[in-house]
Amino acid sequence: MKGLITICPECQVKTELREITVEFERKGIRATMSGIPAMVCPNCGEEYIPGEIGGDVIDVVSRAIDYLEALLKRSEVRRKELLPDQLTPSPKRLELALAS
Ligand SMILES: [Zn+2]
Repeated sequence: MKGLITICPECQVKTELREITVEFERKGIRATMSGIPAMVCPNCGEEYIPGEIGGDVIDVVSRAIDYLEALLKRSEVRRKELLPDQLTPSPKRLELALAS
């Protein structure tokens, strides 16, 4: 793969290919996506996601958050009808993981 950071720029240590979990927060929605390949520094723990993959991940998660936000807005009125006593809204959370 091109564009891989094989040496940590901070520590000058060889990085290792691992699968990591990335968290995003946007529009009050937290999205967690796991199983993302990245080069990880075994010394400082810094994670380097290859540019192409990073762009794709942000793109997919951003769209998912937009869809979820629209869905929540549409269902908000109905939700209030069904649960009139529920004053504290539950946290909005979206999790995406690759099924193995
Ligand atoms: Zn490092």
